[in-house]
Amino acid sequence: MASSTSAQSNAFRWTDFDAYLFDIDGTLLVTRDLVHYNALNLAMREVYGVDTTIDGITYHGKTDLGILRASLERAGIVGSTFEMKLPAALQIIRREVNANASAINPAVCCGIREILASLKSAGKLLGIASGNLESVGWHKIEAAGLRHFFSFGCFSDDHEMRVEIFCNAVAEVRRRLGERSEICFIGDTPSDIQAARQVDAQVVAVCTGTYTIEELTSHQPDLCISSCAELLE
Ligand SMILES: [Mg+2]
Repeated sequence: MASSTSAQSNAFRWTDFDAYLFDIDGTLLVTRDLVHYNALNLAMREVYGVDTTIDGITYHGKTDLGILRASLERAGIVGSTFEMKLPAALQIIRREVNANASAINPAVCCGIREILASLKSAGKLLGIASGNLESVGWHKIEAAGLRHFFSFGCFSDDHEMRVEIFCNAVAEVRRRLGERSEICFIGDTPSDIQAARQVDAQVVAVCTGTYTIEELTSHQPDLCISSCAELLE
């Protein structure tokens, strides 16, 4: 097995940034429940009238809007039919996750609590950049007991493309800390790496989601590690 890029052997120093923007699923936490999954499926059934699921869709790295589009396209729902009913579908997802929030059962990824505490005590700005809908994302973070670490979040409510979410996150950091602030994204999928590149930011890839170190390394993140615990060494 290939070893991860050492933080020390690289010009990249993960402590050098002013702001850190974390993905949620597979990066901060992994949910062990079906709350979000069931909400997505129910929205497709209730709003579009199709009995389908998100199973088989490559949803890791996709936004909630992207997951719906891909799943519904497979069921023959495309174009304006998809677009017109999308706001109603998103409302159902928010409603369902809100109603079932107490059932959200997240496992916090290895090293995350420690790394967030360390960055927070060093005075760094911490934010969320996630493909979840905002209320869904915060419910997961609250269930994991991580809410107090984060000052803001950028989500998918109005954005199907991850790069748009990352763009908003960069703008929010600059608004708070100034134009010259240095930003690092942390994510677990090729989509996170690509979106960070598109906004000219640096990115740490972690293998706590579904992608292996070999897969993520091939997308050339600034640093690729098996988990955030490696940053603590
Ligand atoms: Mg993720």
